[in-house]
Amino acid sequence: MSQKRTIELTCPMCGKPAHFTLWDSVNNVLNPELEEQLLKNTFALFSCPHCGGQNYVAYDFLYHDMQKGVDDISSAFPGRKGQGEGECFA
Ligand SMILES: [Zn+2]
Repeated sequence: MSQKRTIELTCPMCGKPAHFTLWDSVNNVLNPELEEQLLKNTFALFSCPHCGGQNYVAYDFLYHDMQKGVDDISSAFPGRKGQGEGECFA
């Protein structure tokens, strides 16, 4: 099951409060659009409604890969995803 919640954060560009939807866990079969966002690196992209600025929100979430049958802790921060390739998550 995919779980999300909305948090309030402060825009790092204009300093105004804004809301951001944060996913605690992602299921790539139930929410294929989220997997696509992950691949495009727009998953954790915050768009400020006040100034229009965009910034990445770095947080970790549980990723359920139904095809591989594994649960993995992934990072929503671009560049960190996939770093663990070749390592063993037994
Ligand atoms: Zn802003």
